[in-house]
Amino acid sequence: MNKPSLRNVHYNQIINLVRDNGPISRIEISEKVKVPKPTVTRIINKLIKMNILKENGLAPSSGGRRPVLLEFNKNCYYSIGFEIGRTSMKLALTNMDGEILAFKESSYQLNDLIDDILQFAKGAVNEVIEEAKVDADLLLGMGIGLPGPVYIRDNKILKSPNFMQGKENDLPELLHQHFNFPIQFDKDSSVAALAEKWFGKGIGKSNFVYVMADEGIGCGIFLKHELYRGIHGEAGGLGHTIVDIFGKECTCGNYGCLETFVSQKIIIENVKSRLKLASTEERELFDSMDQISMSSISEAVEKGSSIAMQTLKEAGLYLGVGLSNVISYYDPEVIILGGAIGASHPILKEATSESINQRVIGTYGKQIEVTISEIKESAVLGAAALIIDDHFKIFSNSLYV
Ligand SMILES: [Zn+2]
Repeated sequence: MNKPSLRNVHYNQIINLVRDNGPISRIEISEKVKVPKPTVTRIINKLIKMNILKENGLAPSSGGRRPVLLEFNKNCYYSIGFEIGRTSMKLALTNMDGEILAFKESSYQLNDLIDDILQFAKGAVNEVIEEAKVDADLLLGMGIGLPGPVYIRDNKILKSPNFMQGKENDLPELLHQHFNFPIQFDKDSSVAALAEKWFGKGIGKSNFVYVMADEGIGCGIFLKHELYRGIHGEAGGLGHTIVDIFGKECTCGNYGCLETFVSQKIIIENVKSRLKLASTEERELFDSMDQISMSSISEAVEKGSSIAMQTLKEAGLYLGVGLSNVISYYDPEVIILGGAIGASHPILKEATSESINQRVIGTYGKQIEVTISEIKESAVLGAAALIIDDHFKIFSNSLYV
Protein backbone atom coordinates (compact mmCIF):
# COMPACT_ATOMS: atom_id res chain seq x y z
CA MET A 1 0.00 0.00 0.00
CA ASN A 2 1.37 3.39 -0.93
CA LYS A 3 -0.11 5.80 1.56
CA PRO A 4 2.66 7.84 3.18
CA SER A 5 1.70 9.01 6.64
CA LEU A 6 1.00 12.70 7.03
CA ARG A 7 2.68 13.56 10.29
CA ASN A 8 3.97 16.95 9.15
CA VAL A 9 1.78 19.67 10.61
CA HIS A 10 2.17 21.94 7.56
CA TYR A 11 0.95 19.20 5.24
CA ASN A 12 -2.22 18.79 7.25
CA GLN A 13 -2.77 22.54 7.54
CA ILE A 14 -2.43 23.00 3.80
CA ILE A 15 -4.72 20.08 2.99
CA ASN A 16 -7.39 21.44 5.31
CA LEU A 17 -7.00 24.97 3.99
CA VAL A 18 -7.45 23.81 0.42
CA ARG A 19 -10.40 21.60 1.41
CA ASP A 20 -12.19 24.51 3.07
CA ASN A 21 -11.24 27.26 0.63
CA GLY A 22 -10.39 25.60 -2.68
CA PRO A 23 -9.94 26.22 -5.52
CA ILE A 24 -7.19 28.44 -4.16
CA SER A 25 -3.85 29.73 -5.51
CA ARG A 26 -0.42 28.93 -4.09
CA ILE A 27 0.11 32.56 -3.11
CA GLU A 28 -3.13 32.66 -1.08
CA ILE A 29 -2.16 29.43 0.65
CA SER A 30 1.26 30.76 1.70
CA GLU A 31 -0.35 33.96 2.99
CA LYS A 32 -2.86 32.01 5.09
CA VAL A 33 -0.60 29.34 6.61
CA LYS A 34 2.18 31.77 7.47
CA VAL A 35 4.87 29.42 6.25
CA PRO A 36 7.78 30.62 4.01
CA LYS A 37 6.83 30.50 0.34
CA PRO A 38 9.53 28.02 -0.71
CA THR A 39 8.31 25.60 1.99
CA VAL A 40 4.72 25.96 0.78
CA THR A 41 5.78 25.37 -2.82
CA ARG A 42 7.72 22.26 -1.81
CA ILE A 43 4.81 20.84 0.20
CA ILE A 44 2.27 21.60 -2.51
CA ASN A 45 4.41 19.93 -5.16
CA LYS A 46 4.68 16.87 -2.98
CA LEU A 47 0.91 16.81 -2.31
CA ILE A 48 0.25 17.08 -6.05
CA LYS A 49 2.66 14.22 -6.66
CA MET A 50 0.82 12.20 -4.00
CA ASN A 51 -2.42 12.95 -5.89
CA ILE A 52 -3.93 14.60 -2.77
CA LEU A 53 -4.09 18.07 -4.34
CA LYS A 54 -4.74 18.75 -8.00
CA GLU A 55 -4.58 21.77 -10.26
CA ASN A 56 -7.89 23.06 -11.46
CA GLY A 57 -7.96 26.07 -13.80
CA LEU A 58 -6.65 29.59 -13.42
CA ALA A 59 -7.64 32.46 -11.12
CA PRO A 60 -9.16 35.60 -12.73
CA SER A 61 -6.51 37.97 -14.08
CA SER A 62 -5.30 40.73 -11.78
CA GLY A 63 -2.82 42.21 -14.20
CA GLY A 64 0.04 39.72 -14.35
CA ARG A 65 0.12 36.03 -15.03
CA ARG A 66 -3.03 34.25 -13.88
CA PRO A 67 -2.21 31.97 -10.93
CA VAL A 68 -3.02 28.26 -11.12
CA LEU A 69 -5.73 27.17 -8.70
CA LEU A 70 -5.48 24.09 -6.52
CA GLU A 71 -8.16 21.86 -5.07
CA PHE A 72 -8.38 18.81 -2.83
CA ASN A 73 -8.67 15.62 -4.84
CA LYS A 74 -11.75 14.00 -3.33
CA ASN A 75 -10.90 10.70 -4.99
CA CYS A 76 -7.29 10.45 -3.77
CA TYR A 77 -8.27 7.75 -1.29
CA TYR A 78 -11.39 5.90 -0.18
CA SER A 79 -12.79 4.89 3.17
CA ILE A 80 -15.24 2.32 4.50
CA GLY A 81 -17.80 3.24 7.12
CA PHE A 82 -19.56 0.47 9.05
CA GLU A 83 -22.45 1.15 11.41
CA ILE A 84 -23.57 -1.55 13.80
CA GLY A 85 -26.86 -0.10 14.96
CA ARG A 86 -29.52 -1.46 17.27
CA THR A 87 -31.57 -3.00 14.47
CA SER A 88 -29.43 -2.93 11.33
CA MET A 89 -25.89 -3.02 9.99
CA LYS A 90 -24.89 -0.60 7.25
CA LEU A 91 -21.64 -0.47 5.35
CA ALA A 92 -20.60 2.13 2.78
CA LEU A 93 -17.59 2.94 0.66
CA THR A 94 -17.01 6.68 0.40
CA ASN A 95 -14.57 9.07 -1.17
CA MET A 96 -12.84 11.85 0.77
CA ASP A 97 -15.83 14.17 0.32
CA GLY A 98 -18.19 11.73 2.01
CA GLU A 99 -19.90 10.76 -1.21
CA ILE A 100 -21.26 7.23 -0.86
CA LEU A 101 -20.08 5.18 -3.85
CA ALA A 102 -21.57 1.85 -2.74
CA PHE A 103 -23.80 0.83 0.16
CA LYS A 104 -24.94 -2.42 1.82
CA GLU A 105 -27.45 -2.96 4.58
CA SER A 106 -28.61 -5.94 6.59
CA SER A 107 -31.05 -6.30 9.47
CA TYR A 108 -29.47 -7.06 12.79
CA GLN A 109 -30.72 -7.98 16.23
CA LEU A 110 -28.83 -7.34 19.42
CA ASN A 111 -28.62 -11.06 20.19
CA ASP A 112 -27.16 -11.96 16.79
CA LEU A 113 -23.76 -13.59 16.92
CA ILE A 114 -20.37 -12.01 16.29
CA ASP A 115 -20.11 -14.51 13.43
CA ASP A 116 -23.11 -12.90 11.71
CA ILE A 117 -21.44 -9.49 11.91
CA LEU A 118 -18.17 -10.89 10.56
CA GLN A 119 -19.89 -12.64 7.68
CA PHE A 120 -21.73 -9.46 6.74
CA ALA A 121 -18.58 -7.30 6.96
CA LYS A 122 -16.48 -9.71 4.90
CA GLY A 123 -19.07 -9.99 2.14
CA ALA A 124 -20.09 -6.33 2.13
CA VAL A 125 -16.50 -5.00 1.98
CA ASN A 126 -15.79 -7.10 -1.12
CA GLU A 127 -19.09 -6.11 -2.68
CA VAL A 128 -18.67 -2.35 -2.16
CA ILE A 129 -15.11 -2.38 -3.54
CA GLU A 130 -16.31 -4.25 -6.61
CA GLU A 131 -19.42 -2.13 -7.06
CA ALA A 132 -17.61 1.20 -6.68
CA LYS A 133 -14.83 -0.03 -9.01
CA VAL A 134 -12.07 1.49 -6.89
CA ASP A 135 -8.50 0.37 -6.44
CA ALA A 136 -8.41 -1.54 -3.12
CA ASP A 137 -4.88 -0.20 -2.54
CA LEU A 138 -6.36 3.27 -2.13
CA LEU A 139 -8.52 2.23 0.83
CA LEU A 140 -7.51 4.00 4.03
CA GLY A 141 -9.33 1.49 6.20
CA MET A 142 -12.64 0.90 7.96
CA GLY A 143 -14.26 2.94 10.70
CA ILE A 144 -16.95 1.36 12.86
CA GLY A 145 -19.65 3.24 14.74
CA LEU A 146 -21.90 1.66 17.36
CA PRO A 147 -24.12 2.85 20.20
CA GLY A 148 -21.94 4.23 22.98
CA PRO A 149 -20.12 4.21 25.21
CA VAL A 150 -17.58 2.01 23.43
CA TYR A 151 -14.58 0.52 25.22
CA ILE A 152 -11.72 -1.12 23.33
CA ARG A 153 -8.91 -3.02 25.08
CA ASP A 154 -5.57 -3.73 23.37
CA ASN A 155 -7.21 -3.29 19.98
CA LYS A 156 -8.71 -6.75 20.51
CA ILE A 157 -11.62 -6.66 22.93
CA LEU A 158 -14.77 -4.59 22.61
CA LYS A 159 -17.30 -3.78 25.30
CA SER A 160 -20.38 -1.62 24.91
CA PRO A 161 -23.51 -1.71 27.11
CA ASN A 162 -25.73 -1.74 24.02
CA PHE A 163 -23.89 -4.46 22.17
CA MET A 164 -23.81 -8.22 22.85
CA GLN A 165 -25.74 -7.63 26.10
CA GLY A 166 -22.81 -5.55 27.33
CA LYS A 167 -20.47 -8.56 27.38
CA GLU A 168 -16.83 -8.38 26.31
CA ASN A 169 -16.27 -9.79 22.83
CA ASP A 170 -13.38 -10.20 20.41
CA LEU A 171 -14.90 -8.51 17.34
CA PRO A 172 -11.92 -6.08 16.94
CA GLU A 173 -9.39 -8.92 17.00
CA LEU A 174 -11.38 -11.00 14.49
CA LEU A 175 -11.75 -8.05 12.12
CA HIS A 176 -8.04 -7.19 12.38
CA GLN A 177 -7.18 -10.81 11.59
CA HIS A 178 -9.26 -10.76 8.44
CA PHE A 179 -8.69 -7.29 7.00
CA ASN A 180 -5.23 -5.90 6.33
CA PHE A 181 -6.21 -2.25 6.64
CA PRO A 182 -6.59 0.02 9.70
CA ILE A 183 -9.81 -0.44 11.68
CA GLN A 184 -11.13 1.92 14.33
CA PHE A 185 -14.16 1.94 16.60
CA ASP A 186 -16.04 4.83 18.17
CA LYS A 187 -19.53 5.57 19.37
CA ASP A 188 -22.14 6.58 16.81
CA SER A 189 -22.83 10.09 18.11
CA SER A 190 -19.11 10.99 18.10
CA VAL A 191 -18.53 9.73 14.57
CA ALA A 192 -21.70 11.48 13.40
CA ALA A 193 -20.27 14.74 14.77
CA LEU A 194 -17.09 14.01 12.82
CA ALA A 195 -19.22 13.53 9.68
CA GLU A 196 -20.67 17.03 10.24
CA LYS A 197 -17.17 18.47 10.66
CA TRP A 198 -15.84 16.86 7.49
CA PHE A 199 -18.88 16.92 5.22
CA GLY A 200 -21.80 18.78 6.81
CA LYS A 201 -22.91 21.78 8.82
CA GLY A 202 -19.86 21.61 11.10
CA ILE A 203 -17.50 22.70 8.29
CA GLY A 204 -15.63 25.80 9.46
CA LYS A 205 -17.30 25.73 12.90
CA SER A 206 -14.89 25.54 15.85
CA ASN A 207 -17.33 24.74 18.70
CA PHE A 208 -20.51 22.84 18.03
CA VAL A 209 -22.59 20.02 19.46
CA TYR A 210 -24.10 17.34 17.27
CA VAL A 211 -27.11 15.64 18.85
CA MET A 212 -28.09 12.19 17.68
CA ALA A 213 -31.74 12.06 18.70
CA ASP A 214 -32.90 8.65 17.67
CA GLU A 215 -33.53 5.43 19.58
CA GLY A 216 -31.41 7.02 22.30
CA ILE A 217 -30.02 10.52 22.73
CA GLY A 218 -26.28 11.01 22.46
CA CYS A 219 -24.09 13.89 21.46
CA GLY A 220 -20.72 14.53 19.86
CA ILE A 221 -18.92 17.64 21.06
CA PHE A 222 -16.46 19.70 19.03
CA LEU A 223 -14.30 22.12 21.01
CA LYS A 224 -11.72 24.30 19.21
CA HIS A 225 -12.04 22.19 16.04
CA GLU A 226 -11.37 18.98 17.95
CA LEU A 227 -13.73 16.14 18.82
CA TYR A 228 -13.97 16.03 22.59
CA ARG A 229 -14.40 12.44 23.75
CA GLY A 230 -13.54 12.85 27.42
CA ILE A 231 -10.73 11.00 29.20
CA HIS A 232 -12.48 7.63 28.99
CA GLY A 233 -14.57 8.19 25.86
CA GLU A 234 -17.69 8.64 27.98
CA ALA A 235 -18.43 12.30 27.19
CA GLY A 236 -21.68 13.12 25.42
CA GLY A 237 -24.02 10.69 27.16
CA LEU A 238 -26.82 13.25 27.03
CA GLY A 239 -29.66 10.70 27.09
CA HIS A 240 -28.73 9.55 30.58
CA THR A 241 -28.43 12.96 32.16
CA ILE A 242 -31.13 13.09 34.81
CA VAL A 243 -33.88 15.65 34.40
CA ASP A 244 -36.25 14.32 37.11
CA ILE A 245 -34.99 12.30 40.07
CA PHE A 246 -38.56 11.18 40.76
CA GLY A 247 -39.08 10.14 37.14
CA LYS A 248 -39.60 6.76 35.47
CA GLU A 249 -36.96 4.03 35.59
CA CYS A 250 -34.55 4.16 32.65
CA THR A 251 -32.87 1.25 30.84
CA CYS A 252 -29.64 2.30 32.59
CA GLY A 253 -31.14 1.69 36.04
CA ASN A 254 -31.41 5.36 37.05
CA TYR A 255 -34.65 7.30 37.28
CA GLY A 256 -35.83 10.24 35.17
CA CYS A 257 -33.08 10.25 32.52
CA LEU A 258 -33.70 12.49 29.49
CA GLU A 259 -34.31 9.35 27.42
CA THR A 260 -37.34 8.45 29.56
CA PHE A 261 -38.94 11.67 28.24
CA VAL A 262 -37.68 11.81 24.69
CA SER A 263 -36.61 8.96 22.43
CA GLN A 264 -38.11 7.40 19.32
CA LYS A 265 -39.70 4.67 21.44
CA ILE A 266 -41.24 7.10 23.94
CA ILE A 267 -42.62 9.38 21.20
CA ILE A 268 -44.21 6.43 19.37
CA GLU A 269 -45.60 4.96 22.62
CA ASN A 270 -47.08 8.32 23.61
CA VAL A 271 -48.79 8.72 20.23
CA LYS A 272 -50.15 5.16 20.39
CA SER A 273 -51.56 5.48 23.90
CA ARG A 274 -53.14 8.87 23.14
CA LEU A 275 -54.72 7.51 19.97
CA LYS A 276 -56.52 4.84 21.99
CA LEU A 277 -58.70 7.54 23.48
CA ALA A 278 -58.89 9.66 20.34
CA SER A 279 -61.77 10.26 17.94
CA THR A 280 -62.12 8.22 14.75
CA GLU A 281 -61.23 11.32 12.69
CA GLU A 282 -57.98 11.71 14.63
CA ARG A 283 -57.12 8.00 14.23
CA GLU A 284 -57.78 8.15 10.51
CA LEU A 285 -54.94 10.65 10.11
CA PHE A 286 -52.60 7.68 10.65
CA ASP A 287 -52.41 5.08 7.87
CA SER A 288 -51.91 2.18 10.23
CA MET A 289 -52.21 2.03 14.00
CA ASP A 290 -49.72 -0.87 14.15
CA GLN A 291 -47.03 0.78 12.09
CA ILE A 292 -46.59 4.15 13.75
CA SER A 293 -43.13 5.58 13.06
CA MET A 294 -41.43 8.97 13.30
CA SER A 295 -42.25 9.61 9.64
CA SER A 296 -45.93 8.64 9.97
CA ILE A 297 -46.17 10.98 13.00
CA SER A 298 -44.69 13.83 10.91
CA GLU A 299 -47.16 13.07 8.12
CA ALA A 300 -50.03 13.16 10.61
CA VAL A 301 -48.89 16.61 11.79
CA GLU A 302 -49.19 17.79 8.18
CA LYS A 303 -52.73 16.36 8.04
CA GLY A 304 -53.64 18.33 11.18
CA SER A 305 -53.37 15.67 13.92
CA SER A 306 -53.41 17.43 17.28
CA ILE A 307 -52.06 14.31 19.02
CA ALA A 308 -49.05 14.08 16.72
CA MET A 309 -48.45 17.81 17.12
CA GLN A 310 -48.74 17.78 20.91
CA THR A 311 -46.44 14.75 21.25
CA LEU A 312 -43.71 16.24 19.06
CA LYS A 313 -43.97 19.57 20.89
CA GLU A 314 -43.54 17.80 24.22
CA ALA A 315 -40.54 15.89 22.88
CA GLY A 316 -39.05 19.21 21.72
CA LEU A 317 -39.67 20.73 25.14
CA TYR A 318 -37.73 17.95 26.89
CA LEU A 319 -34.99 17.91 24.28
CA GLY A 320 -34.67 21.65 24.90
CA VAL A 321 -34.30 20.99 28.64
CA GLY A 322 -31.42 18.59 27.96
CA LEU A 323 -29.84 20.95 25.44
CA SER A 324 -30.12 23.93 27.79
CA ASN A 325 -27.75 22.07 30.10
CA VAL A 326 -25.39 21.33 27.21
CA ILE A 327 -25.40 25.00 26.20
CA SER A 328 -24.64 26.07 29.76
CA TYR A 329 -21.63 23.74 29.84
CA TYR A 330 -20.12 24.35 26.41
CA ASP A 331 -21.50 27.61 24.96
CA PRO A 332 -21.36 26.24 21.39
CA GLU A 333 -21.82 28.21 18.14
CA VAL A 334 -24.54 25.91 16.87
CA ILE A 335 -26.42 22.73 17.74
CA ILE A 336 -26.85 20.28 14.88
CA LEU A 337 -29.81 17.99 15.41
CA GLY A 338 -29.70 14.58 13.73
CA GLY A 339 -31.26 11.11 13.96
CA ALA A 340 -34.87 10.18 13.22
CA ILE A 341 -36.19 12.63 15.83
CA GLY A 342 -34.12 15.48 14.38
CA ALA A 343 -35.39 14.61 10.90
CA SER A 344 -39.04 14.63 12.01
CA HIS A 345 -41.48 17.53 11.58
CA PRO A 346 -40.05 21.09 11.95
CA ILE A 347 -42.41 21.80 14.87
CA LEU A 348 -40.12 19.66 17.03
CA LYS A 349 -37.17 21.90 16.24
CA GLU A 350 -39.26 25.00 16.94
CA ALA A 351 -40.37 23.58 20.31
CA THR A 352 -36.75 22.71 21.12
CA SER A 353 -35.57 26.26 20.37
CA GLU A 354 -38.42 27.73 22.41
CA SER A 355 -37.60 25.49 25.36
CA ILE A 356 -33.92 26.52 25.15
CA ASN A 357 -34.90 30.18 24.97
CA GLN A 358 -37.02 29.83 28.12
CA ARG A 359 -34.31 28.09 30.14
CA VAL A 360 -30.80 29.13 29.19
CA ILE A 361 -29.54 32.02 31.29
CA GLY A 362 -26.82 33.35 28.95
CA THR A 363 -27.88 36.04 26.47
CA TYR A 364 -26.23 34.34 23.47
CA GLY A 365 -27.16 30.82 24.51
CA LYS A 366 -30.86 31.75 24.45
CA GLN A 367 -30.65 32.54 20.76
CA ILE A 368 -28.45 29.64 19.79
CA GLU A 369 -29.12 28.27 16.35
CA VAL A 370 -30.56 24.76 16.33
CA THR A 371 -30.20 23.36 12.85
CA ILE A 372 -31.20 20.03 11.34
CA SER A 373 -28.46 17.80 9.94
CA GLU A 374 -28.60 17.29 6.19
CA ILE A 375 -26.55 14.11 6.33
CA LYS A 376 -28.75 11.06 5.86
CA GLU A 377 -26.46 8.22 6.88
CA SER A 378 -24.60 10.10 9.59
CA ALA A 379 -23.21 7.15 11.58
CA VAL A 380 -21.97 5.31 8.46
CA LEU A 381 -20.44 8.47 7.00
CA GLY A 382 -19.00 9.37 10.38
CA ALA A 383 -17.41 5.93 10.66
CA ALA A 384 -15.80 6.54 7.26
CA ALA A 385 -14.70 10.00 8.46
CA LEU A 386 -13.08 8.40 11.52
CA ILE A 387 -10.51 6.69 9.29
CA ILE A 388 -10.12 9.70 6.98
CA ASP A 389 -9.47 11.98 9.94
CA ASP A 390 -7.03 9.55 11.45
CA HIS A 391 -5.06 9.49 8.20
CA PHE A 392 -4.98 13.23 7.61
CA LYS A 393 -4.68 14.10 11.34
CA ILE A 394 -6.68 17.27 10.94
CA PHE A 395 -9.34 17.41 13.64
CA SER A 396 -8.16 14.56 15.83
CA ASN A 397 -4.85 16.34 16.52
CA SER A 398 -5.96 19.97 16.57
CA LEU A 399 -3.97 20.91 13.51
CA TYR A 400 -6.62 23.23 12.26
CA VAL A 401 -5.61 26.64 10.92
ZN1 LIG B 1 -30.66 6.39 31.81
